[in-house]
Amino acid sequence: MIQNKYKILLVEDESNIRNLVSTVLETSGYQTIMADTCSVAKTLFASYLPDLIILDLGLPDMDGINLLEFVRKDSLVPIIVLSARTNESDKIDALDKGANDYITKPFGSGELLARVRAALRNNRFSAEQGRLPGGRFTLKELEIDYDARRVFIKGEEIHLTQTEYNIVALLSENCGKMMTYATIIKAIWGGLAEDGSVKKLQVNMANIRKKFGDKPGETNYIANELGVGYRLNE
Ligand code: CA
Repeated sequence: MIQNKYKILLVEDESNIRNLVSTVLETSGYQTIMADTCSVAKTLFASYLPDLIILDLGLPDMDGINLLEFVRKDSLVPIIVLSARTNESDKIDALDKGANDYITKPFGSGELLARVRAALRNNRFSAEQGRLPGGRFTLKELEIDYDARRVFIKGEEIHLTQTEYNIVALLSENCGKMMTYATIIKAIWGGLAEDGSVKKLQVNMANIRKKFGDKPGETNYIANELGVGYRLNE
């Protein structure tokens, strides 16, 4: 589990709240990345691809809504908005623009952690949204535990990077379906299928197939249709 810690981008300009929230999160086993302005957050979002964003709306350079819109242009990462604003219209505006949840300051650490767990559970790579009972996926000797983000073959854990795990989870959610490069790239990295990103996908896929014990030229768990995409075989 350690290599698969959830990364949370925390965007908050008030240092006391930022420190409090990051301490609460890190004590609970999450990795936090911190930004105090909208523009720093955009840069960190692009380089770290966090699993969750906690976003204060009142930031010194721009309104936090700006970051929300920026992220939602091409990513479904869960976003929890954090704000002192109690105005209903701000809340609705943030949710309409794609926030997953909303917490009003002041809040307790228990409440914060509960919202974080719920947002992570409901994201696209976890079980609650899927059709798979019990938070698990099985296919022949492959087993995925979505809640713990762990993958096993014949009961042995396969150690995947965050990105590799996200790709495997995406393919498993669409088991049997050919997923195009563009679809996978958009879901995983939130961008367009350009030369660089296709290459990046192919490198990740080669590593996954090696870790799965799939042999080149054979279709085992993952089939590759050259120039088209990948499919987890049913
Ligand atoms: Ca603020």
